Amino acid sequence: MTVEVYYDDDADLSIIQGRRVAVLGYGSQGHAHALSLRDSGVDVTVGLRPGSAGRAAAEEQGLPVRTPAEACAWADVIVVLVPDTAQRALYTESIEPHLTPGKALLFAHGFAVRFGLVAPPAGVDVALVAPKAPGHLVRREYSTGRGVPVLVAVEQDATGGAWPLALSYAKAIGGTRAGALRTTFADETETDLFGEQAVLAGGLTALVTAGFEVLTEAGYAPEIAYFECLHELKLVVDLMYEGGLAAMRHSISDTAEFGDYTRGPRIIDGHVRDEMRWILTEIRNGTFAAELIDDVEHGGSRLGKLRQAAATHPLEEVGARLRGMMPWTRRAEPEQPTADM
Ligand code: NAD
Ligand code: MG
Ligand code: MG
Ligand code: MG
Ligand code: MG
Ligand code: MG
Repeated sequence: MTVEVYYDDDADLSIIQGRRVAVLGYGSQGHAHALSLRDSGVDVTVGLRPGSAGRAAAEEQGLPVRTPAEACAWADVIVVLVPDTAQRALYTESIEPHLTPGKALLFAHGFAVRFGLVAPPAGVDVALVAPKAPGHLVRREYSTGRGVPVLVAVEQDATGGAWPLALSYAKAIGGTRAGALRTTFADETETDLFGEQAVLAGGLTALVTAGFEVLTEAGYAPEIAYFECLHELKLVVDLMYEGGLAAMRHSISDTAEFGDYTRGPRIIDGHVRDEMRWILTEIRNGTFAAELIDDVEHGGSRLGKLRQAAATHPLEEVGARLRGMMPWTRRAEPEQPTADM
């Protein structure tokens, strides 16, 4: 399956410049979209709840701020950039009452639409512009004249203009400078969840923890287990980021490379692949989304307990001590980007 890619010349900035855009939320993505839209000559207002911490930050940047409901009433393009699990409530309370025919509803992730947490009326355009980076990187690249690649999708084309509108929006945040990849809400959502569950978050933390536990159970020092199973990851991932698996394998010793080819497939074996397929099934049939939403709507106690148990694992205790010996590992500045998940 080849993916279609669109660039600046394929997008007409004047479309979004002719609309009133409400950005709901001023977090990682929200601040980046709102500021870059404004700098692209778009009439933008930020929608935030009265007590929201983002209010001061947005106002300091000279952006107009209204309540989400006021912003939605004013706008003809509404961009939902609050956490996925907060979108159903925000939609019902503040967005839906103002979704008159001809307006457009935009997302940066397909979760709420794909799993039916929101059901926009037929007269409204529904599209997705999902940058493939955390918001701070999206903003930084835009500011330096470049951009971060985006995924673009249209779920509902009520006006016949949803696709050019989405591309125009992508251009205004720098996305078409790098390239806009056409996809669907379903593909974007399912692959995003699979990546974070099977590989980036779930797979990786389980792999690190299991490696640490096996070494320490065998009597090795937890400090040394921490270095070998967690700390060194950064070096390996940086090489993969720059040049793929090949660059990483080029840089490691032949001893490590031989162990990689001969032992890796024994760790990630047929059982693991079957479980990955099952995880993908649970994503696609809505089991995962239902489980998450159920927890969120009951106060998040399951997530809280899991978070607490993970935080008290011996690996974290030894890690905190070792990082104290390595001041360079500390987070540099408050706005260091969070991962794109
Ligand atoms: P965030 O957590 O950084 O920001 C959330 C914003 O929403 C804040 O301004 C917060 O005050 C507000 N908010 C929080 N809870 C709220 C509630 N209950 N009601 C109303 N407002 C509330 O969010 P984010 O990471 O920017 O994610 C926004 C969207 O962008 C999500 O759909 C996410 O999947 C998507 N996305 C995020 C990234 C990323 O790197 N963070 C990348 C691509 C797409
Ligand atoms: Mg080593
Ligand atoms: Mg080598
Ligand atoms: Mg978090
Ligand atoms: Mg992701
Ligand atoms: Mg994600």
